[in-house]
Amino acid sequence: MAHNMLRAVLLGPPGAGKGTQAAKVIEKYNVPHISTGDIFRANIKEGTELGKKAKGYMDEGKLVPDELVVNLVTDRLQKDDCKEGFLLDGFPRTIFQAEQLDKFLSENGQKLDIVLNFKVRKDVLIERIAGRRVCKSCGASFHVVNVPPKKEGICDVCGGELFQRKDDNRETVENRINVYESETAPLIGYYEKQNVLANFDGEKTHNEVFEDVVKAIEAK
Ligand code: ADP
Ligand code: ZN
Repeated sequence: MAHNMLRAVLLGPPGAGKGTQAAKVIEKYNVPHISTGDIFRANIKEGTELGKKAKGYMDEGKLVPDELVVNLVTDRLQKDDCKEGFLLDGFPRTIFQAEQLDKFLSENGQKLDIVLNFKVRKDVLIERIAGRRVCKSCGASFHVVNVPPKKEGICDVCGGELFQRKDDNRETVENRINVYESETAPLIGYYEKQNVLANFDGEKTHNEVFEDVVKAIEAK
């Protein structure tokens, strides 16, 4: 597979390490990173209509309704920079979204090369998310215990300020994991049937997981 031809989806519960792996994959394969969570957060920050609609759901750890998500993503996938590939992160999150994505891809003569599925036990997820801190400027992710920044509250990468996402508190995290289990986990079987699923042990180190990811992509 040529290195700029990758159509992939990241799948896994919140805190599974999708964002970290996304950063590594887009650098190596030179494809755009399409994170619906990031798009919604940017819209909330800018105070757009979409941001206003999405905020309440996100703060409670619920899914934003499908009708606000699908067009957003398919519009993005029609941009020129997605012609040679893309990495979807946080989409699809429901069977309906997956079906709409398949419809869009087949209408455009495309298909997914691989769905990267990360497995992490629930107690590990909760611990990871509750300690997560994110850079305001560049989005880099840290953890107060596991991946502490060199200087407390400051991003190692760009010197920006670190903050805790509003939905990263313990109660909301539990909600998000429950929503994942009921709404999103069924996608594992959906993509298994399509023969595009690759499973990873998301409890290994970031670098070990990435090695496994590269092997799986190269084997496709
Ligand atoms: P995480 O994977 O850590 O939960 P994300 O940044 O992917 O975080 O998503 C944050 C929130 O944005 C979700 O809890 C949900 O409210 C909303 N969201 C993101 N992507 C989708 C989607 N595809 N469908 C519905 N809601 C979404
Ligand atoms: Zn930063």
